[in-house]
Amino acid sequence: MLKHRSITIGRFNGFLSSGTFSDVNLTSALYSKRDSSAVKLTAYTVPNCKRIPFKEAISKLNEFKPVKIGDSFGPSWVTVWFNVKITIPDNWNDEVIYFLWNCNNEGLIWSLDGKPLQGLTGGGGDDSRHEYILTKEDIKKKSVEFYIEGACNGMFGNGDNGLINPPDPNRQFTLSKAEIATPNMEVWHLLYDFQIIASMAKNLPDNSSRGSQALYTANKIINVFDPKCKESWSKAREIAAEFLGKHAGDAAHNVYAIGNCHIDTAWLWPYDETKRKCARSWASQIRLMEKYPDYVFVASQAQQFEWVRTLYPTLFEEMKEKFKTKQFIPIGNTWVEMDCNIPSGESFVRQFLYGTKFFKEYFDYSSDIFWLPDTFGYSAQLPQIINIMGMKYFFTQKLSWNNINKFPHTSFYWVGLDGSEALTHFSPANTYTANATVNDVITCEKNNKDTAYSNDSLLVYGVGDGGGGPLMKMIERLKRMNNVDGLPKVILSDPSIFYKHLEENSNDLPKWNGELYFELHRGTYTSQAKNKLYNRLTEYLLHDVEFFSCLSLLLNGSSNYPKDEIEELWKDILLNQFHDVLPGSSIGMVYDDSTKIYKNIIEKGTKLKDNAINSIIFNSSKPAEGKKGYEIFNSTQWTRSEVIEVPLLPNQTNVQQLSHSKNKALIYVEDIPGFGYKNVYDNKLVNKNLSICYQNDTKTYVMKNSYITATFDDMGRMISLIDNEINRELILENAKGNQFKIYDDAPLYWDAWDVEIYHLEKGSDITNGNVKIIEEGPLRVALEIRIKISEQSNIKQIIYLTPISKRIDFETEVEWNESHKFLKVEFSVDILCDTATYETAFGYVKRPTHYNTSWDMAKFEVCGHKFADLSEYSYGVSLLNDSKYGYAIHEKTIRLSLLRSPKAPDDNCDIGTHNFKYALLPHIGSFYTSNIVEEGYKFNVPLIPRYIEEMEMDNSFQLFKINDKKNVIIDTIKYAENEKITENAIVVRLYEAYGGTTQFKLFSELPVKKCYVCNGLEEIIQEVEWKENSCNLTIKPFKIMTLKLFFKK
Ligand SMILES: [Zn+2]
Repeated sequence: MLKHRSITIGRFNGFLSSGTFSDVNLTSALYSKRDSSAVKLTAYTVPNCKRIPFKEAISKLNEFKPVKIGDSFGPSWVTVWFNVKITIPDNWNDEVIYFLWNCNNEGLIWSLDGKPLQGLTGGGGDDSRHEYILTKEDIKKKSVEFYIEGACNGMFGNGDNGLINPPDPNRQFTLSKAEIATPNMEVWHLLYDFQIIASMAKNLPDNSSRGSQALYTANKIINVFDPKCKESWSKAREIAAEFLGKHAGDAAHNVYAIGNCHIDTAWLWPYDETKRKCARSWASQIRLMEKYPDYVFVASQAQQFEWVRTLYPTLFEEMKEKFKTKQFIPIGNTWVEMDCNIPSGESFVRQFLYGTKFFKEYFDYSSDIFWLPDTFGYSAQLPQIINIMGMKYFFTQKLSWNNINKFPHTSFYWVGLDGSEALTHFSPANTYTANATVNDVITCEKNNKDTAYSNDSLLVYGVGDGGGGPLMKMIERLKRMNNVDGLPKVILSDPSIFYKHLEENSNDLPKWNGELYFELHRGTYTSQAKNKLYNRLTEYLLHDVEFFSCLSLLLNGSSNYPKDEIEELWKDILLNQFHDVLPGSSIGMVYDDSTKIYKNIIEKGTKLKDNAINSIIFNSSKPAEGKKGYEIFNSTQWTRSEVIEVPLLPNQTNVQQLSHSKNKALIYVEDIPGFGYKNVYDNKLVNKNLSICYQNDTKTYVMKNSYITATFDDMGRMISLIDNEINRELILENAKGNQFKIYDDAPLYWDAWDVEIYHLEKGSDITNGNVKIIEEGPLRVALEIRIKISEQSNIKQIIYLTPISKRIDFETEVEWNESHKFLKVEFSVDILCDTATYETAFGYVKRPTHYNTSWDMAKFEVCGHKFADLSEYSYGVSLLNDSKYGYAIHEKTIRLSLLRSPKAPDDNCDIGTHNFKYALLPHIGSFYTSNIVEEGYKFNVPLIPRYIEEMEMDNSFQLFKINDKKNVIIDTIKYAENEKITENAIVVRLYEAYGGTTQFKLFSELPVKKCYVCNGLEEIIQEVEWKENSCNLTIKPFKIMTLKLFFKK
């Protein structure tokens, strides 16, 4: 070898090139024979983009027409079924024959008797899967017949001239390859050997002796190789074997390689395509497992397993078989790989509950790893939830995408809000779709930030996002890197083995406390606003359905609890929480799907809720002549006194105030017990603390009750807010509240995902509004504001104040038709604090209100649930919402993100009419002494009035009560998962919401037989003594507590 490293490395590329030199290099000898005339094809295009089952497809056999290489199929999303008949030529006596196929789209091979055999991925990229290995029986018979279900989309959908662009509806896919071929196995093996050695020459340091030896060896192989001479192939392999036979040292770094195919449950394709992606991907992996008995593959998302179970039962059986051989391993235990910012705490619990239940039922197995490589930030409560759901490890890599700060750890203990820990590993290869190259393996060691504390890394490989999974070449490469001097040792492994090894063999691993904030994709708290509204609505709808169904069961003594229906509806909510659906980063077709699913949940859930309430009324009332009035139901834990709207009845008298729409009456209801009901047959007139509203002068409007006085200018902006109790002005001098602002919103690339920090530099106040008074009290006052955002967008807002609270509600309707604009509303308040409080799942997080460091600044847009709060020592202001998740509190300005208008991947994102509410709530005392958590629930879970006449119920009833501890919150009341309906077993899920250990008493008006503390899977941990009508409990800061109570009959 002459001495020139870079020219020699250049020579390696030419040796493997499938373009230039492919007539004389290694690739020229990969096949000894190829024949396309042996393959006869007919095809049937399914009309109307329908995806039909196998049986239906083959019933159309008489409609299959001959097709040939060069024919095109389409348009986008159409399905083409091919019948493939192969006649193996008589003179082919080879042991291995490949069928090679490239229609530049995705395909699934089906056997004649309807079994999915293997997926095919067209195109010429690294992810392509063109080969299907004919079975020995096929070769013996000399003829083969099967079907290919071709889907007219690529691995990443049908993006119009770019990955994330909205789909091009008119794509065509050309069949460019349909043939059989016999591989020269020796040359194939040499190819993989050479890839390893040449890559070591390229990727090891210039001056390393192993790198230099690799350079010499690879060069020598090229010199020896002759594509026409079989002996030269063996000689070349011997040279390779000598090099690869030198072993790594005892202290070499360990890389645990895990095959996977990340299948986004919906993204650049709709749910129905994902069902087929699962079959294509997983069938391919089963074939690889047959070929490589030591090959290990993991798959997550019970929903995808459930689809395969019902649509591809034979494949599901094969998966179960390969689970027994420890090759096909379910992982993660969640229903889908969900967004981890937006879902409520209860949604998180259900993701694991239903996921774990599925895997236990069908595999008798539950993973110990929470597996979520690809979501956009991780809630601070997840370490606890992982623990209470029976797991202890966590895997991701997403924070390697941070665009401001580099995350400092690879292997560490993630410490949650409550102090729970989860051993966490971020794959140092910074990907979950690694190609399994030498460079990936080297990067694992080089980029591992904790090699001082542990010697293990995880490499997650396989084509992914659109599914696919590992390819033969990946496994071949990894097996060669098992023990080679100069490289880490590669182990094909179950990830549980990796985590156990890491746990037992690491020292002094670092810790990371609190949320794993993702410094990118901050637009996902806001994009696809309706989807987010539906998420909040349906989470609380099922909260109500479960509570009222329990109440009905316990009060009526019937066995009528719609457990299966509720579980189905929950699973639909969980499905739509997938990490590209709820965040708003999918194509428009996905939101057509999710909207349909949400509407179904709302329709069925509302029916279930009404049924339960009606049954409570029916069973708990007795005839009462002349009686009429309202039964008020309360599904939150607090005793509530509120002004509510009720339908106006014919000939109704005694109406203290009509709503501005004139079709509703306003009534004041007092002391409605928590988790119960009360009758209001003679509703009280409010005669004190009235609210008033008046025009002060031509330019200002005042809303006032005994607690606060709010003044608005003639554009609807709040120019003053005075707390009457202490006579304090809350609006910052020369600033305003309820100021709508519009920002330019053009991120760097990921349109629906990202809002970039510079958008804050280019925003303007919307000042084009007018105001009128539409309700003047005494029960409620209201201003109507109309604001013009632009020629094509406007806002109609009604601002309400009642006599009973400091809360000012802003009911908002926006007609939105913008491009790359971001609408926010801002309140600048005279409150000083360097941190603000944002509600998260089962708790809150504090984040800075300043940009001191790059880590602080990176949080310029953050996620909050029902409220965000800015409090100083003795006073604070909260901004509540009914469906928004994007907030920013910077210095003294509270911003709520309302609507965005990205154009990719859905060019229609958020165009149209939106209805949502937010509320401003000033409070005396800091956040810790406030009742903001309670107010967040009340704002989202209204009291439910039911008109009844000629009947009467007991005066009032309360199922559960907690003694005067405002930080202990009962979030969920549901029927126990593993108990028969006749057992009267109710699960109560509580959490500590403010961060302090608390002793409390839980009461019930109904007799309880037994009470147990359980884990999140509702497995009993210990009994708690229930005495008379209560039990004593202690809850630690931010803990989630699951109780199971058996009620007497
Ligand atoms: Zn993903």
